[in-house]
Amino acid sequence: MLLPMSDTITLLKGSGAMLEGHFLLSSGRHSDFYFQCARLLQYPDKAAEALAGVADRLRTDIRGGKLAVDAIVGPAMGGIVVAYELARQLGLPGFFTERDDSGAMALRRGFEIKPGAKILIAEDVVTTGKSSGESAAVLEALGAKIAALACVVDRRAIEASPLAWPLYAACTVEVGNWEQHNCALCKQGIPAVKPGSRKL
Ligand SMILES: [Zn+2]
Repeated sequence: MLLPMSDTITLLKGSGAMLEGHFLLSSGRHSDFYFQCARLLQYPDKAAEALAGVADRLRTDIRGGKLAVDAIVGPAMGGIVVAYELARQLGLPGFFTERDDSGAMALRRGFEIKPGAKILIAEDVVTTGKSSGESAAVLEALGAKIAALACVVDRRAIEASPLAWPLYAACTVEVGNWEQHNCALCKQGIPAVKPGSRKL
């Protein structure tokens, strides 16, 4: 495991958001670390601090003409507070997609996407980019253009397929991120626990 020190890592550790063990991630992969970002984001001042660097980089690229964003959308649950906080710091609207009764990602509550709207997708943790991809598909079907992705923790595996959009991450960590058949902890007979759930 390699953990570059950053302010965001310090904030995650200090708020108990970085857990060590044997985890079954919502992506289906296994890990020796789990990030429960909600434990950091429950503190508005820490949420603001953790995301200030990402907001700065987004602001710089927007002002420099490298990026255009009309609204920020976070997939529920993990992306809601991240979308809100980035929207607050950047002075943009922020809302969310969520699962409908069938479990499919959807835009509900009367949130509107104008045709051609440029959307930044906000997540707490990016492991494979799966839920971002699901939200992107919903938003693109409504006429949006996905401009970029932002997150608190980028914990993608090195072998993971690259994302379709630029990623702005508050921190990037290299922790266990394995298919079950490659999991060293499974091979030791340690039971995996499922700390979060993709479904609400
Ligand atoms: Zn395992």
